[in-house]
Amino acid sequence: MGKVYLVGAGPGDPELITVKGARVLERADVVIYDRLINPKILEFAKNAKELVYLGKWHGQSEKQEEINKMLVEKARRHDVVVRLKGGDPFVFGRGGEECEILRRAGIEYEIVPGITSAIAGPAYAGIPVTHRNYASSLAIVTGHKKEDSALDLQDIFRAVDTVSILMGVSNLEDIVRQALEAGLPPETPIVAIENATRENQRVIKGTLSDFPEKARKENLRPPAVIVVGKVCNLHEKLRWI
Ligand code: SAH
Repeated sequence: MGKVYLVGAGPGDPELITVKGARVLERADVVIYDRLINPKILEFAKNAKELVYLGKWHGQSEKQEEINKMLVEKARRHDVVVRLKGGDPFVFGRGGEECEILRRAGIEYEIVPGITSAIAGPAYAGIPVTHRNYASSLAIVTGHKKEDSALDLQDIFRAVDTVSILMGVSNLEDIVRQALEAGLPPETPIVAIENATRENQRVIKGTLSDFPEKARKENLRPPAVIVVGKVCNLHEKLRWI
């Protein structure tokens, strides 16, 4: 019986994987990787006999079941199985659910955390998610609507200085509306970082009042991190790309 490593690949730039993650990949017999993985990161997996692409889209539970089954099956036949996930495996990556499956199946596992796009995305646009003068709290939320979600975005906008939103592009207008309804001033800055840390990274900046139209005009596409809060104004001053 082998061991499964849940490894965070980082947000895209292949050098943003941890040393531990890269070393585990080098030893991998099998790599099962996600949709958002930069193919260059797979080059670390020099000895892998199998590279299996298993993406998953919102709410596709059949797909998740397929992934779970495969993890168990591969661990029974190989020593080192790497489940490679974009960013950090425990930040909207279903890493927790996969651990539960492995535990139930009696398979050993290890977590190798990764650099999450929720923080590294803004960093690559010169935006520190906290700053002594502008923000002392950070929330990482999903912008993807789920009927069963207890999440009230408005409460978060009221309580937290910087809100970093993943999976929010298709729901952008609603997110901005909720920020305004929460009482944030219309001139509050908002930034989207598309393809953060990759060669084709793009930053779109606006205010709550003009952003939905701007994003439409610029044809903002996923994957993107959307950041709301005063720290976004540091983009002009601190941008380094
Ligand atoms: N576990 C991942 C998040 C998975 S959810 C992490 O920690 O980063 C997928 C969402 O992450 C995307 O919809 C997008 O909002 C964000 N994302 C992941 N990689 C990204 C990238 N390179 N640029 C911008 N957003 C990214």
